[in-house]
Amino acid sequence: MAEKKQKVIPDEYIPEVASRVVTIEGSDYLVENDAMYTFYERSMGEFSPFFLAIRDEKKILGCKCTKCGIVRVPPMLTHCPDCDFAPTQPVEVGQVGRMNTTPPITYFATSLFLHIAPYGRGRVILEGADTAMSVNLYTTTGILVPGLIKKGTEVKVIFKGERVGEITDIFCVPTSELTPDQITKKGLEESELNWATPKEPVFPKASEEDIAIYKQSLKEMQALAAEMSKSKRARKAIEGWKRDIAVKTKAGEFAMCINDGDFSIEERRLGSPDFVMACEDPKTLLDGLSYKGAITDSVIMKKLWISKNMEFNTIFKLDRLARFLAREKKEAAKQ
Ligand SMILES: [Zn+2]
Repeated sequence: MAEKKQKVIPDEYIPEVASRVVTIEGSDYLVENDAMYTFYERSMGEFSPFFLAIRDEKKILGCKCTKCGIVRVPPMLTHCPDCDFAPTQPVEVGQVGRMNTTPPITYFATSLFLHIAPYGRGRVILEGADTAMSVNLYTTTGILVPGLIKKGTEVKVIFKGERVGEITDIFCVPTSELTPDQITKKGLEESELNWATPKEPVFPKASEEDIAIYKQSLKEMQALAAEMSKSKRARKAIEGWKRDIAVKTKAGEFAMCINDGDFSIEERRLGSPDFVMACEDPKTLLDGLSYKGAITDSVIMKKLWISKNMEFNTIFKLDRLARFLAREKKEAAKQ
């Protein structure tokens, strides 16, 4: 298989050869896209063994003071400031540890980090270490929500398949999501985890009233979907996007399909959806699509669960879809 080559500046950030005219105080000025080349090489210096161990050996290194024995991870010091600058020695530490803080979660990342969001960021004290190391945190159970990883949660270091010698070559997941073998295995890789079958929430049995609410909500959502598909502006929100989503609620399951501007809600079960959305009360979703409260908020507030973390991006698009339709209607009402 051909190796995928990554560019230092991703292609999507490189502007086209183009120009535009800017009018300032009645005069036209031509503005052209141009470039300044500023690539440079960065030495990892004394951190090189740490990053090489991650890349080539799937090991985490720390440094141990030859006098007091304190183990610092990452190995940020060659000499211990507490012991009259006694030299330190590299040591390997464990790949399981405990969070020493509750990690905040980034849902709305800047363009630089969008491709890895939502992610948690916190500090873990690995077995054999005396200091905490910063790591990105994920879950295999679907969307990363507050409370899933807290101060004291036991987590394990996971290595990416393709490693370049950067701290993002590793991340952590809670050990409660792993098998005993996976917990003890050194150098556990991302591809060895079960990302495909996260545990869906279980809802109580639906009452007659729940079924009535479900039917009514579904009808209203279908009407909204039809409006969205007809709205030029709303279509923009899901342009180029394609997702078949299975939506499970207490009283029934339906399909939500996004297809390059077309948006539909159908009462049928999808055989192989791109991801699953589960919300006990279908009104949560109806409110979101009607632009009464954001769907992204419902996810963060744990009212709506999604089976794939990265699909938060799709939820974000659904919010835009609702907002664009609401705006179009508001402007039409003004005229
Ligand atoms: Zn020392």
